[in-house]
Amino acid sequence: MSSRNNKIISCLCGGIKLKVNGPLRHVSNCHCIQCMKTHGNYSAYTNAKEKDVIFLKRGTLKWFRSSKKAKRGFCKKCGASIFFKFYGNNTISISAGMFSNPTKLKTKMNIFIKGKLDYYKLDKKLPKFNRYS
Ligand SMILES: [Zn+2]
Repeated sequence: MSSRNNKIISCLCGGIKLKVNGPLRHVSNCHCIQCMKTHGNYSAYTNAKEKDVIFLKRGTLKWFRSSKKAKRGFCKKCGASIFFKFYGNNTISISAGMFSNPTKLKTKMNIFIKGKLDYYKLDKKLPKFNRYS
């Protein structure tokens, strides 16, 4: 857990609005095939306690069960990919790009780098993992 950001964040159309009333974890870039296909690129997720996520609007929030272990939350109106959530876990991952400056977030690692595609380079200074850290 690293920083706080109490600003209201929203998807592109504003159908989903929330704030995080607690600490945010550093950002992990995930290169797994599911993130690639969901985001159209690798994902950049911060993470928070689910109880700290306060929804102001969520009428357009839809969940997609992306595997037996996890689901992904997106806006059914504008298509924003916002959440990744393991079932039975008290935390939730939030796309870091939903925040605005200053985010107070830092990218700390690359995960599932086996799925990395060849059109971009990894930051060599960051630790990398084949799976989770
Ligand atoms: Zn939206």
